[in-house]
Amino acid sequence: MPGLMSADLAVAPCVQLLTAMRLHIEMTVVADCSAGQCVYNVHNRCHAKAITIGGTMHPACDTYLSSEKHPDLSHTQALHILAGVGACKTIGCKHNQDLQCTASSMRVQTHAAHADCVTFEASAQKS
Ligand code: SF4
Ligand code: SF4
Ligand SMILES: [Zn+2]
Repeated sequence: MPGLMSADLAVAPCVQLLTAMRLHIEMTVVADCSAGQCVYNVHNRCHAKAITIGGTMHPACDTYLSSEKHPDLSHTQALHILAGVGACKTIGCKHNQDLQCTASSMRVQTHAAHADCVTFEASAQKS
């Protein structure tokens, strides 16, 4: 169909440009994480590139992926890269501004069958 073909040709340069781009974003560093049972964890470091934190009031790591429940999965790439906090939904934390983490760094520790941000500090205004 001639119409579809011309539309495809019009967006092709934009798609090529976007696929060639790499993102360089300032994020709060995940300094360490004790959740050794998470597939992204190697030697108490997170290598997921970016993680998401939240619950609105419970700062659990949403990116956590249990190696016990998913023994077929492992993350072995980019082990030299430290993770950052891509997004945080825990609005009750004083470091949370506009649903992003503003702490200089943060730490994650195992809590029961999941893992939590232990840099969380309750915000008087938001709690
Ligand atoms: S629990 Fe979260 S911070 Fe820890 S290694 Fe897994 S994804 Fe990274
Ligand atoms: S320190 Fe606060 S804002 Fe930052 S990731 Fe943890 S809970 Fe979210
Ligand atoms: Zn928890």
